[in-house]
Amino acid sequence: MNPVRRPAEPAMARNTIARIHPDAIAHNLRRVRESAPDSRIMAVVKADAYGHRIDLCLPALADADVLAVATIEEARAIRRLGNGLPVLLLEGVADPGDLAVAAELGLELTVHHRQQVEALAAFGRPVTPRIWLKIDSGMHRLGVEAAEAAQLHQRLLELPGVEQVNLMSHLACAEQPDHPLNARQLARFDEAVFGLDGEHCLANSAAIFNWPAIHRDWVRAGIVLYGISPMDQGCGADLDLRPAMTLTSELLAVNHVPKGERIGYGGRFVTPEDMLIGVAAIGYGDGYPRAIADGTPVLVNGRRCRLAGRVSMDMITIDLFGCPNAKIGDQVVLWGEALPVEEAARSAGTIPYELVCRITRRVRYRAQAAPGMVSKVK
Ligand SMILES: *Cc1c(COP(=O)(O)O)cnc(C)c1O
Repeated sequence: MNPVRRPAEPAMARNTIARIHPDAIAHNLRRVRESAPDSRIMAVVKADAYGHRIDLCLPALADADVLAVATIEEARAIRRLGNGLPVLLLEGVADPGDLAVAAELGLELTVHHRQQVEALAAFGRPVTPRIWLKIDSGMHRLGVEAAEAAQLHQRLLELPGVEQVNLMSHLACAEQPDHPLNARQLARFDEAVFGLDGEHCLANSAAIFNWPAIHRDWVRAGIVLYGISPMDQGCGADLDLRPAMTLTSELLAVNHVPKGERIGYGGRFVTPEDMLIGVAAIGYGDGYPRAIADGTPVLVNGRRCRLAGRVSMDMITIDLFGCPNAKIGDQVVLWGEALPVEEAARSAGTIPYELVCRITRRVRYRAQAAPGMVSKVK
């Protein structure tokens, strides 16, 4: 019998790479500290650190005060990495059976619903000394009603092992400081928590940078840790943030295409003249959005070129005008330091949060120094 042969190491893996820059994340965390100097920081690392991979990001977040995740599996991943920071489940647990797991992993809990208080009471054993009571101040997603906050706060304090019940709420329009809903939510929150013991936590990334009055005791920093702006306009650099991800690929082909030909699925792009078209190894199968428009900028050898034709599963096609010497194997940057992901997101009709979160497992990840920060260190 032939011995089972192991497949050889692939001679050349596909060069579609998300380069993660821990130094940029550490810098962004410092920027949050500077912007909210009197508050403690909850570093939000849900959805695998917004698609940046929790294992690559955690070493840069050692100075955070709490890590916040959405699911118990995300919390378990952090514990497996051996990280000793407190971890908060932003939605608490849905299944009462998970309370024992939360206790074992030493997780802090959000309580956003009366039913979760009942489940904790029924559990009857200590889970965590610190609970975060989430109050619905007007976004109407998660949170107990303002009118029941005081009663539930008291009941939580009476549970075994509970020493502190903090008070949390979430703002629907923090990136628009003048939106009338902000003042309404703040007033409702302050009324609900009047006279209650516990630290306050209201500000997300947008509020950290544009609404100091609500920093209070704790801020929740998410997207800004990854160097991305939470605002509708501009990019992270406007807030002195550094992008934590550079998404790169390379050219698989460089083709001369005559005037009047159609490129890609559906023939969406028609060449207005004889053109040099590059084909790069990235597509919606990697998370690059299919909805993105012709003309979206990408960098080829550091120079701005434009997307020409529909995104396919594995490839994109690029107008190489301005890059006449481009050749197979040359680097293509989809977003990063010199090309903000905010720009790509606008071109795709979405927000940068979604673009970084939906990178697929086919893309390889690599931690490396941020391109713009290497020279600083030298
Ligand atoms: C995800 C999340 C945040 C972080 O929001 P950013 O806009 O990324 O800062 C804050 N609070 C809650 C409750 C969240 O779920």
